[in-house]
Amino acid sequence: MPATYLYLMNEKIRVRFAPSPTGGLHLGGVRTALYNYLFAKKHGGDFIVRIEDTDQTRFVPGAEQYLFDCLEWCGIKPDESPVHSGDFGPYRQSERKSTYRTYAEQLIENEFAYYAFDTPEELEKMRTQLKTPENPSPQYDRMVRMQMKNSLTLSPGEVKSLLANGTPHVTRIKMPADEKISFTDLIHGEVSFDSGLVDDKVLLKADGMPTYHLAVVVDDHLMKITHAFRGEEWLSSAPVHVMLWKYLFGIENMPQWAHLPLILGPSGKLSKRDGATYGFPVFAMNWTDPKTNELVEGFKEKGFLPEAFINLLAVLGWNDGSEQEIFSMHELVEKFSIERVHKGGAKFDFEKAKWYNHEWIKKMPASGISTLVKKLFELKGVSVKDPSYFNTVLELVKDRCTLIPDFYEQAIYFFKEPLVYDEVSIKPKWDEAKKDYFESLAAILGQEDNFNVENIELLFKTLATEKNIKPGELQMILRVMLVGSKIGPAAFAIANTIGKAETISRIEKATIRFESF
Ligand code: GLU
Repeated sequence: MPATYLYLMNEKIRVRFAPSPTGGLHLGGVRTALYNYLFAKKHGGDFIVRIEDTDQTRFVPGAEQYLFDCLEWCGIKPDESPVHSGDFGPYRQSERKSTYRTYAEQLIENEFAYYAFDTPEELEKMRTQLKTPENPSPQYDRMVRMQMKNSLTLSPGEVKSLLANGTPHVTRIKMPADEKISFTDLIHGEVSFDSGLVDDKVLLKADGMPTYHLAVVVDDHLMKITHAFRGEEWLSSAPVHVMLWKYLFGIENMPQWAHLPLILGPSGKLSKRDGATYGFPVFAMNWTDPKTNELVEGFKEKGFLPEAFINLLAVLGWNDGSEQEIFSMHELVEKFSIERVHKGGAKFDFEKAKWYNHEWIKKMPASGISTLVKKLFELKGVSVKDPSYFNTVLELVKDRCTLIPDFYEQAIYFFKEPLVYDEVSIKPKWDEAKKDYFESLAAILGQEDNFNVENIELLFKTLATEKNIKPGELQMILRVMLVGSKIGPAAFAIANTIGKAETISRIEKATIRFESF
């Protein structure tokens, strides 16, 4: 039986998504949140959102609210968070500052950590002096620490007085010289590191704030986190976390980790430029891109449905072993398993992302998308008065729409008569016989009391036979008369939907215009 399941039997599953409120939430971040959420919900556990805001220099006002808005849009509902509350708060690390100091002090007492008083200049000097072609960026590690100004090299008296004088200092972990650090990752299997190659990371900064390394371990412990799924970029920090677990809480209590594969662009790593091309973050924040001064568009603004977005994210690095591609959140909760997350990076393909959206638009009933499309129409100055008419229109055109904004072009002619016509298509087909045909058609339709798709089609075809004209050419012309262009569902369905008077009026107006082509 895989390790996860043994664990599940004993304890309530508790997972966390731990974003730093430093800017937009991107694909990788939401996918991490989603995998944590799916795993928790599948096993009847809790999904916690913890705000990791200890790096005050990177703090962006509004970013926390934005994170919660994004999660809500995606349908990822936290059980506990700074805004949803819970029994393990506070859920913002900046509000837990005093807790971390206690643990940092415990580490120092047990000689697993030390105070370092080096000034920025002294650190810079060390880096310049030790820099070699083989070691271009020397680290503060076991090779270096004994040459620096810290509580390992200074006498206890000196340390005491420096502390008493309020000399700026940090607390660093003392990485063991020669220890194999290993753990079992739920995706990567057994992972090991040589402790001698890991630097003495800062745990508590000069301002008394913890670094991510200390805070993440302390909080995962205090919040009783059982499983921690995070991006692969954190794998290199894992040895520091393993050692902190060992020193503070016992390695056997450590959450089970899974480091999720990176999301790659078509050409490899997903670059910032790919970001602009693919329209992530999830949705726009109120900021403008400093380079272009434009508002950054996200998936939401591009017209993705949240259902499609979480579907495409879920399968970006995971599958259920079948050919199935379309999953609802409900099915994902049922089918998700962390063991089936791929080891290798997942390639993000924007065209495929659009395919998912198209599939979801097709799958949704009109009522599920009408609010979004209504908003689009209203933004363009078209007011939607009759909801039942609107839904009929959406049903007719939704299979032709990939992104929500496509609905405008695909449906506007149901609300406004065309002002321009596809002249290039009409000109070679228009002649006296056609003019005569459409004048007669308008008259015949005017007599018809039962204006429905079948009758319109019958009258249209009977007249074509009578006048000896191929119905195919006529249908194209009718479509352009009603729509302005060659897009849209069957012309008879369009006529039926806009109604008799409007159909006749459009045929008559177009007939006059086509004469001038
Ligand atoms: N605060 C980290 C981040 O922003 C979280 C890493 C973790 O989940 O351990 O990605």
